[in-house]
Amino acid sequence: MRTQVAIIGAGPSGLLLGQLLHKAGIEAVIVERQSGDYVLGRIRAGVLEQVTMDLLDEAGVGRRMHQEGLIHGGFDMLFKGQRHRIDMNKLTGGKNVMVYGQTEVTRDLMDARQAAGLTTIYEAANVQVHDFDTKNPRVTWEKDGKTHELQCDFIAGCDGFHGVCRASAPRNAIREYEKVYPFGWLGLLSDTPPVHHELIYANSERGFALCSMRSETRSRYYLQVPLTDKVEHWSDQAFWDELRLRLDPEAREHLVTGPSIEKSIAPLRSFVTEPLRFGRMFLAGDAGHI
Ligand SMILES: Cc1cc2nc3c(=O)[nH]c(=O)nc-3n(C[C@H](O)[C@H](O)[C@H](O)COP(=O)(O)OP(=O)(O)OC[C@H]3O[C@@H](n4cnc5c(N)ncnc54)[C@H](O)[C@@H]3O)c2cc1C
Repeated sequence: MRTQVAIIGAGPSGLLLGQLLHKAGIEAVIVERQSGDYVLGRIRAGVLEQVTMDLLDEAGVGRRMHQEGLIHGGFDMLFKGQRHRIDMNKLTGGKNVMVYGQTEVTRDLMDARQAAGLTTIYEAANVQVHDFDTKNPRVTWEKDGKTHELQCDFIAGCDGFHGVCRASAPRNAIREYEKVYPFGWLGLLSDTPPVHHELIYANSERGFALCSMRSETRSRYYLQVPLTDKVEHWSDQAFWDELRLRLDPEAREHLVTGPSIEKSIAPLRSFVTEPLRFGRMFLAGDAGHI
């Protein structure tokens, strides 16, 4: 099989790149190690910055986001018991953020890809990138008991922080800058109305908390917790009790609690790699920076 660009990874970066290349008349095949349903089910981002909204529009996949997403022009910071609204729209000359789940972005991009008849290979095992320091890079993978090969002009490594592309770059050609934080974010998703119409970033002596949302009926809350904590040790009740302690009286009063529909701990790190190009292989998205 041959294509112009082999994209590794069908997360938001790989799918968006595929769509932008398609609009530019450039052929691309995406090779993903998980199933489409698995990728769609990953609960992650919920707030898109202006640059992401603009890119989704440019790729022609922003229609549902504009219909169903919630535009926020600001957010609250809770500091020493006082709430301060940051008017992001005014301070940035008109920029906003959009509340629209990563699951929905992924679905829109997958639908657009399918409608355009573009190829995505899911459940590709043992994906390997080869010869990207020559004019004839290749990608190989295993599926259905066979080894497959894709010849291409360029490889786009959109395979996230743990992917194979960055790991395949020569060690002496890559510099990595990383800060691993000694805490994680315990996230809880629930079908309850958000505590406030915009996000609240709360600083408290008990640790950070974030009141976010996915829609007017679905909330996402985060608590800073030690990395040693295990999610199974946090009952829903314990989560809500701790969240209340980190909020101000007004938010406490408006907080609506309910059963979690997802709960997980995300370790936090800042990470940038340099360069983002190795011959004919490029890194994009979380593969290059978090
Ligand atoms: C809890 C949490 C909350 C977040 N909130 C926000 C937010 O509000 N706003 C925001 O902008 N961002 C947020 N983020 C970050 C955002 O989710 C990531 O930046 C985004 O998922 C990166 O997309 P990506 O496509 O680069 O990587 P990924 O989403 O990691 O996708 C990489 C893909 O590559 C595949 N892959 C990996 N290895 C291989 C391989 N060897 N071969 C083939 N395929 C492979 C993976 O299966 C995956 O599908 C959040 C992240 C987390 C964890």
